[in-house]
Amino acid sequence: MDYTNIAPIAQEVFEFEPAKSTEMIIPGNIVEKGVLISPSGMPSFRQDGVPELKTIERNYGTKDSPRRNICYIHTFHGHLIDPYMDVPCYCPACCRQLADNGTSACTLAHLPQGSSYTHIEVKRRRVRCTNPKCNYNYTYPIDFKADGHMITQPLLNFTEDLLSYGTMTLKTISHLTGLNKNTVKDIHKAMLQEKYTVDGKGKELIKPEKYARYLGIDEFKLHDGHKYATIIINLETGYILHLAHGKKKASVYEFIDRVGEEWMSHVEAIACDMNSDFEEAFHERCSHIHTVYDFFHIVKNFNDKVVSEVRKDEQQRLISEDRKDEAAALKHSKYILMESAETRAQKDRDAAEGKLVSKASELFNKPEVKQKGGHAEKYSKLISENELFLAIDIVKEALQEAYKEKSVGRMSSKIKDIIETCRGTENEHFLWFARLLENHFDGIVNHARYKISTGKVEGVNNLVKTERRTGYGYPDDEYFFLRLMDASRKKSRF
Ligand SMILES: [Zn+2]
Repeated sequence: MDYTNIAPIAQEVFEFEPAKSTEMIIPGNIVEKGVLISPSGMPSFRQDGVPELKTIERNYGTKDSPRRNICYIHTFHGHLIDPYMDVPCYCPACCRQLADNGTSACTLAHLPQGSSYTHIEVKRRRVRCTNPKCNYNYTYPIDFKADGHMITQPLLNFTEDLLSYGTMTLKTISHLTGLNKNTVKDIHKAMLQEKYTVDGKGKELIKPEKYARYLGIDEFKLHDGHKYATIIINLETGYILHLAHGKKKASVYEFIDRVGEEWMSHVEAIACDMNSDFEEAFHERCSHIHTVYDFFHIVKNFNDKVVSEVRKDEQQRLISEDRKDEAAALKHSKYILMESAETRAQKDRDAAEGKLVSKASELFNKPEVKQKGGHAEKYSKLISENELFLAIDIVKEALQEAYKEKSVGRMSSKIKDIIETCRGTENEHFLWFARLLENHFDGIVNHARYKISTGKVEGVNNLVKTERRTGYGYPDDEYFFLRLMDASRKKSRF
């Protein structure tokens, strides 16, 4: 059945327009004392009588530690003003006259008044066809109802305003508006879809705002820790351009198909981890793109595969020599080993100056904590026990220096030195690292040529971690991904 004939008429009549002045609403009536009359923002709604007061209990805490509070809800009863009430309407299906079919009531959440919530109950007219063979019936639409939610348009606008501040959690907004947390989430998701998907339909991500010279690609763990997702960022702006489930080459193809060959021709280099096959996927489709292995991932590999392993081996050695206390002490040395000489020296200087790590509190009986010294001393004790710890430090400092180089020639010779240092140790973990550097030599020294900022790669990594925490309890990856897209575009982030 075709409803198009009648629906547009109703829409036109009730075109939403906020009231311009209170004169429209109070035609010279005397107002009761203690009563405020103000525009509702819903010109087609007429209130009948006084509001009804109801109390409900809301939980402001969590499921485990509830904090119950009584909330007030004012329900305003009223009806839709229907200027066509007396005008005969005809059935769009069979052209017979339409007859009244009673009214139907519908309750919508409306703007809160301070800490009490407001509902409005709208009675609206229903009509049916007088032809007994025709099933046509029609309920007049509420022009101020927000699409897809049982709330008014003014409440939707208010909720969207709160969401766009970007500083409140969904739970806070839920308390302020009286809406369910999932409703707030759905409203936020729709806003983000509007912003980041083609025509706001939520089916396909928008094309990147501008061309990118350097891209970063990385993978991260999703909520359950087993599934992975792939992220592509613009390394100059820090904007997330693409997100996809899985860590497969397919997500690279998908990205290239979305942005097109022309867009890709502006990309000069991509930064990625050495243990991924992303670069292969990029080269298959765009042979002009150079690979760069960024400092963040190199250090991450070194810490995870060399520092941690060497420390574990040393611990085993001490235990086998029955030096359990020393083995236990080594357990806490991980961070001293991972720190650079510069950080250790800084911490010792802070200790000498008596710098505070945290303030004392009389109220909570907490003494002040000063920076502990002896980092350099502990470190020299460690290396006197095991020369490999010294090698760790040498390699780290050398990597840092090499990554500061702006000339390919000088960076190459520094990386070659590091490879030699690693080989010199004859330790299996260092030998592994030497092979890693050798097999990815070109990509490493490419860093001297392209300005790839490690800060941006690391920034996005941290962003994923914080957003994952905030987004907990919402097993909706689509919403999580859109939140990430949005957060990466907030200037304060980087
Ligand atoms: Zn009909």
